[in-house]
Amino acid sequence: MSGQDVNLVLRSTRVVTPEGTRPASVAVAGGTIDAVLAYDADVPAGARLEDFGDDVLLPGLVDTHVHVNDPGRTEWEGFWTATRAAAAGGITTLLDMPLNSLPPTTTVENLRTKQGVAGPKAHVDTGFWGGAIPSNVKDLRPLYEAGVFGFKCFLSPSGVEEFPELDQEQLARSMAEIAGFGGLLIVHAEDPHHLADAPQRPGPAYADFLASRPRDAENTAIEGLIAHARRLNARVHVLHLSSSDALPLIAAAKREGVRVTVESCPHFLTLTAEEVPDGATEFKCCPPIREAANQDALWAGLADGTIDCVVSDHSPCTTDLKTSDFASAWGGISSLQLGLPAIWTEARRRGHSLDDVVRWMSAAPAELAGLTRKGAIEAGRDADFAVLAPEATFTVDPAELFHRNQVTAYAGKTLHGVVRSSWLRGVRIASDGELAEPTGRLLERDR
Ligand SMILES: [Zn+2]
Repeated sequence: MSGQDVNLVLRSTRVVTPEGTRPASVAVAGGTIDAVLAYDADVPAGARLEDFGDDVLLPGLVDTHVHVNDPGRTEWEGFWTATRAAAAGGITTLLDMPLNSLPPTTTVENLRTKQGVAGPKAHVDTGFWGGAIPSNVKDLRPLYEAGVFGFKCFLSPSGVEEFPELDQEQLARSMAEIAGFGGLLIVHAEDPHHLADAPQRPGPAYADFLASRPRDAENTAIEGLIAHARRLNARVHVLHLSSSDALPLIAAAKREGVRVTVESCPHFLTLTAEEVPDGATEFKCCPPIREAANQDALWAGLADGTIDCVVSDHSPCTTDLKTSDFASAWGGISSLQLGLPAIWTEARRRGHSLDDVVRWMSAAPAELAGLTRKGAIEAGRDADFAVLAPEATFTVDPAELFHRNQVTAYAGKTLHGVVRSSWLRGVRIASDGELAEPTGRLLERDR
């Protein structure tokens, strides 16, 4: 298919393909999957065989929600550390969020600055979301033409002053502009009025923090977003869904043909409000981790397809910003390296297969971003893989994470699923915690 000779064959008794998991040999030529062959297919002369036995060969994961913060807040994270953590965790493609770096990705010039910084450090393929803020409607189309995958906006304060939220009028204006050129708007959906009306009690009690970010704030914001999308025939995506109460209205909108997709995150699907110790702000994020019953409903939403994707929303900071006061501590959970085992551990307990996990964490995010060469093991796609020992377990030791700041809500948890190696365009980029030199490419939206 590629016009080049097959130089590599990856073999496993369990290869996750779009048609299901089966024994197979995957032939790779020039960094592209050439063919998915029978398990015992002959290895062409001159090709190297990598036989993984019973370890599972998955398509490399695609994480469309990562805050790399580089340049500008590189003490929080950076392209070198984030992409190494991604590679170690089985992620071979990531898309960087437009805020928390300085500059934010709100103009073409800022995008070029970020690309310049990321290029030499990228251990995995890396692309960029643009940002939609009140002042940059004129920059949206040029950013899109420069290759961003879509635009992120907030409806409530983002936490950093250089990335202001949109009010309803500004939302409608930006959404109309983006819909006009066929782009995608991805939205942090919490309604600022509901947040302002919620009880604010600073301190170390998680229950007080949870009460300050009520489900109604999400539900109302999502309802409004769907109304705008319906009216403008715009394509919108709900980021980090936490409130399961919003699932019926999202499902109804999808049935009706409104172009809305939804993601949730490992922390909402594997951690619960009931288990958060007082003062443990490594569990703080916005919207917040909610109750166990809410989590059950989110899993039902994943199972029935209302929720499309599971992505990390990796949003780290330095340890000093994780004070014991939930109101003022930085909100964000670090999980880039741990998302796959965290989700797989809970998915298997709930009777889901690795095929489901691959759909949520690789195929669907690739489709969301229009990454047609990523997200599946099939001929013509990039030869990006993760090799997973799904029955093996490990206990999370923050010291083994490649994140710049080794703070994580998963510390001490025993998880199923050890990532043995990761492969990017036919090259092994991570192997049992050893990382290769960076070979990631900067990705731009297919045009
Ligand atoms: Zn985020």
